[in-house]
Amino acid sequence: MLRCTVLERRVGTLGRRSCTKVLAFALLMLESALGSGAQQPGPPNLVVITIDTLRADRLGCYGYRNIKTPRIDALASDGVLVENAYTPVPLTLPAHASLFTGTYPVFHGVRDFTGDTLSEERATLATMLRSAGYSTGAVVASAVLEARWGINQGFDFYSDSFPSPTTQNWQPIAERRGDEVVRESLLWLERNSRAPFFLWVHLYDPHDPYTPPSPYDRQYATRPYDGEVAYSDENLGRIIDALKARGLYDNSLIILLSDHGESLGEHGEKTHGFFVYDSTLRIPMIFKLPGTAGPRARRIAGPVRIIDVIPTALSILGLSGKVRTPEVQGRNVHSALLGKASLSEVTSQAESMLPFYQFEWSPLLSIRKGRFKYIDAPVPELYDTAADPGEMRNLYADQKALALQFKAMLLGEVARFSSRKADVGPAQSMDPETFEKLLSLGYIAHGRRSAAQVRGRNLPDPKERIQVYNLIFDGTLAARNADYGRAAKLLSEAVRREPVSLVAHFQLGVVYRVTNAFDRAEQEFRKVLELRPGYDLALRRLAEVHMAGGRYQEAERAYKEVLAQSPDDAAVHFSLGGLYVTVDRWDEALAAFRKAQALNPKDVLIPMIISRILIKKGDLAGALAAVQQALNLKPDLIAGYETALEIYQKQGRAAEAEKTARILERLRTKP
Ligand SMILES: [Zn+2]
Repeated sequence: MLRCTVLERRVGTLGRRSCTKVLAFALLMLESALGSGAQQPGPPNLVVITIDTLRADRLGCYGYRNIKTPRIDALASDGVLVENAYTPVPLTLPAHASLFTGTYPVFHGVRDFTGDTLSEERATLATMLRSAGYSTGAVVASAVLEARWGINQGFDFYSDSFPSPTTQNWQPIAERRGDEVVRESLLWLERNSRAPFFLWVHLYDPHDPYTPPSPYDRQYATRPYDGEVAYSDENLGRIIDALKARGLYDNSLIILLSDHGESLGEHGEKTHGFFVYDSTLRIPMIFKLPGTAGPRARRIAGPVRIIDVIPTALSILGLSGKVRTPEVQGRNVHSALLGKASLSEVTSQAESMLPFYQFEWSPLLSIRKGRFKYIDAPVPELYDTAADPGEMRNLYADQKALALQFKAMLLGEVARFSSRKADVGPAQSMDPETFEKLLSLGYIAHGRRSAAQVRGRNLPDPKERIQVYNLIFDGTLAARNADYGRAAKLLSEAVRREPVSLVAHFQLGVVYRVTNAFDRAEQEFRKVLELRPGYDLALRRLAEVHMAGGRYQEAERAYKEVLAQSPDDAAVHFSLGGLYVTVDRWDEALAAFRKAQALNPKDVLIPMIISRILIKKGDLAGALAAVQQALNLKPDLIAGYETALEIYQKQGRAAEAEKTARILERLRTKP
């Protein structure tokens, strides 16, 4: 109490509780004012903020003059900015997998977004820090980073819930706005700011479609991508403000980076994920070191790769050698950040498997060393990125010897960094819900073909197919915006240019189905099945088209074909049940819904349907039992009591009917 008395003399009467609070606060302030020299602070916290799809050259601190990014610029002023930082893959999930394992995609095996999950065997930054006593939390903004992809490994808290889009609704709802992500991140911070913590915040706003909220929609009316970047800057600022308000800023390592850039039309690519040019491989990367004596407003040329982040962060946190990192392929650049050492020359690899997995065009691999970058493709490319940062002049023909050296180096490095398991994966199927979610985010994700399935074919160069890709991309976007006429036109043109494109036929089929052009839709899905026999997503769609068109026999056949491959698919049993109801085959309908119920016992609709079928069949006791199952799941289900009332009346059970009617009355008048 003595100290409180002194305090009271300084600031006036406090009362015992607030006195203690103020004292604690004063001590905290004193500690942070004295810095690390006086009293040993706890281990530094780590805050990683990934702003998806953010080009380095769209930020003020990277020299862009047409935008205001004051908060990111301020962070750079408080730390070290890496001028040349690179991602190994221009896609969200694989790039984050590289960030959080410190390994190349050829090693961690997450090559695109069509079914690869990060293996539980991989050590992640979160598992490493958790083993060192950190509390770990993450808030992500897009369904492509949902926990089921394995990217949540090591996080005690992982916020990733997104509503499922419906087939008819292609609006991009499998993502969250930055303000919501930040709000949730700060709630976590409130509960976990005591111990050393690792917080990862993922902001998705600069990802297409570019629809910045007010006032950025007006301020950047002609450059909506920039508007999303400016909006992300504001959200980053809210995180920084919260860290400062809680006295956590100084003792935190803050790493800001993106997973990949955005082409914005360069090389004919509109967004990202297709090519491996620097429009999408070059990323911003800023380190704000813990402590008040850290480097400020320093810029280093690089190169620093995403895989270098883990060893560097662990070194800054004082954990090098204290946590196990047996697999990490990157290098520690901590002393370069401090200006104590220059960076060694290093190769930087990148890949794009999307053209191959989704379209059966050639994959793209690249390697960079010094000023030169080589891209391995059917038409190979070599660029002098110092003289030609836009990668416009292909030097391959002029400097073939050098190009071949780079090619040999690339093949050697791929072999060196690969894990045997992670080579081009086998054909995988994609469940319909995932397909719809990805579609709602603008990704067209079909299960991939394996290398063996396309072996021996001359795969087209993606450069020569970018227009077909854009037609499919734009057609899908038009469909998402319910502009079905335009969608059909663009996708038909894609099909005309590339008649063997499974994706183009599939998307066109979807558009025809939505617009009730059932015959045309059927034709497209049949074409897909010709290109890939037994493909279950196409079979499902074909069945739906038959149902909608009243061709029940064909629909039944298609559903059964899907069930032959996926016998435990509740949704297909449900659809099949609906089909049997439509054609008055009540026993088969009952069997199908019972199967669906067994597979999906929490669905309240299924027992309600079963009860209706049993009433129809005259099995009132069975119907009542089914209603009871529904009411067990949802005790205030009005439709449940309505059906129960109907059954009691049919059975002549007046007392029960009256009691049920009273419950109904109460439920109906409930506010
Ligand atoms: Zn991304």
